[in-house]
Amino acid sequence: MINRSEIHAAWNALVVAWKSVWQASADIERWAAFMPYCDRLVGLARADGVVELERALEPLALMLSTLEAPTDQDKSAVDRLLAEVFVVVRHIMSPDYQSQAQIRADETHALPVVVMLTRRPEEMRDVLVQLEHYGYHFACFEDFTQGVQHALTQRVTAVVMDLPTGVTQEDKPLIEELVRHGIKWFCLSAMGDFALRLKAVRCGAQGFFIAPLSVNVLVDAVDPLAYATKDEPYRVLILDDSLTVLTSIQRTLEQFSNIHLRTLRTPQHILETLMDYSPDVLLLDFHMEGCNGLEVAKIIRQNKAFESVPIVFLTSETSEEIQLEAMRHGGDDFLTKPISQAQLVNAVVSKAERYRGLRKLMVEDSLTGLYNHVKTKTLLQQGLLLGERQNAPVSYAILDIDHFKRVNDSYGHTVGDKVLKTLARYLKQHVRKADIVGRYGGEEFVVVFFGSSAEQAYEKLDEIRDSFAKIYHSYDEGIFSVSFSAGLAQYPDYSNMMELVVAADEALYHSKRQGRNRITIARRQAKS
Ligand code: GH3
Ligand code: MG
Ligand code: MG
Repeated sequence: MINRSEIHAAWNALVVAWKSVWQASADIERWAAFMPYCDRLVGLARADGVVELERALEPLALMLSTLEAPTDQDKSAVDRLLAEVFVVVRHIMSPDYQSQAQIRADETHALPVVVMLTRRPEEMRDVLVQLEHYGYHFACFEDFTQGVQHALTQRVTAVVMDLPTGVTQEDKPLIEELVRHGIKWFCLSAMGDFALRLKAVRCGAQGFFIAPLSVNVLVDAVDPLAYATKDEPYRVLILDDSLTVLTSIQRTLEQFSNIHLRTLRTPQHILETLMDYSPDVLLLDFHMEGCNGLEVAKIIRQNKAFESVPIVFLTSETSEEIQLEAMRHGGDDFLTKPISQAQLVNAVVSKAERYRGLRKLMVEDSLTGLYNHVKTKTLLQQGLLLGERQNAPVSYAILDIDHFKRVNDSYGHTVGDKVLKTLARYLKQHVRKADIVGRYGGEEFVVVFFGSSAEQAYEKLDEIRDSFAKIYHSYDEGIFSVSFSAGLAQYPDYSNMMELVVAADEALYHSKRQGRNRITIARRQAKS
């Protein structure tokens, strides 16, 4: 997804910054202040996959990075380059613009692509075919130059270069080309001694594999690149009765795309706003008309839901005693006005980060990153209410890996854990975003399909069952495969959560008794 408004805002900010350079172009400080605006635009172009813009900014970035004593000629050159960038920006802003990345995503159903550059494609074939089971496309090239071109034009997820003796002089230009365009590459080598690794790292390698390459190792390495969910921006709420303070903080924080801001000038609606906006950190003025920040903090802390929202007080109070008093009443930090920009950003990001981390711990299963048991149940309950309101079916599936004890016993617990992670990832990749995937405990998983009847859910899950059973898992000495069994039940056949869960459980045991590696739909017996 391209964030047009962000690109637009970044472009506008860049133009404003450029004007300042214009007025005194001999002043290197102004040039230095201008550079981050270009970097920001390059960063956005890269993050959104807008190759055209990234390319258009390249000469500008290059030129800025080599300036020592800027002349009028440099100024005119940048002027010309900016005009070219502007043409591209305008093109991107037009309503019918579709980025190359978008077009490709539509064509390939958004499956991430890994490019393999190798002089022995036959030996790689197996790994690459396996890669498809993990939800990747691959492209294999014997001609490295062609492969790199493909990687650049298609903006692939990663490139693996099979370099049996490590990086050689002749590989370097191609590697530099990849790195310059922000494409991640991995080195595959026959040996892994320090010198070879060092050379690869110096050429910007993202990782180093030792041949023979196993699909698990490859997938573990590229997964974070392909499925890195872009973190949502931190939500910051400020309550301050001074418009000047609000504006100044807003100006500072607006420069950061990972911070989203909401402002309040009076405390009357603070609880509703906390509920509705769910901020990751609250900046709270200490002295306000009518009441003080301490009192507001107390009101907030009296609500269980907001017990742990970080509160940072903004104050001109320098008395240590009052500051301590505020901390005792639930403040997490203090910023003394006038607030330095660096301190502000630092306080906001560190508090918000920690709070996010805490919340994540509470809902995530640590091994697989799926929702944990408690969160899965809460989401299921909410889903059923929604189904009831919208008169839509909700299907609930419980999955259990077959003979998992044998996996642990034969290959060890660590290998068992890897299988659990693989299934977790596989499920996430193959159901819709809106569906819920949770780990119920041990080797049991839950999938909740919204708006799907049991038959529709069966069809989807059976595809997953079939293809998952074809994946190879590796251990020290070889490979093996595993299957899972499942039970499915649908709302409204079973009208509350308890009934639904029990029915699906029974259906699962039916699948197990019938020989495993299958799915059973729970059918409500007609009452006689
Ligand atoms: P069935 O086909 O009947 O389900 O047989 P099973 O062997 O899968 O079932 P059983 O319930 O007997 O064994 C489940 C095993 O799962 C036992 C336990 O050691 C293992 N297990 C549970 N949690 C974890 C985990 O987090 N990691 C690993 N590696 N193993 C786990
Ligand atoms: Mg079990
Ligand atoms: Mg089992």
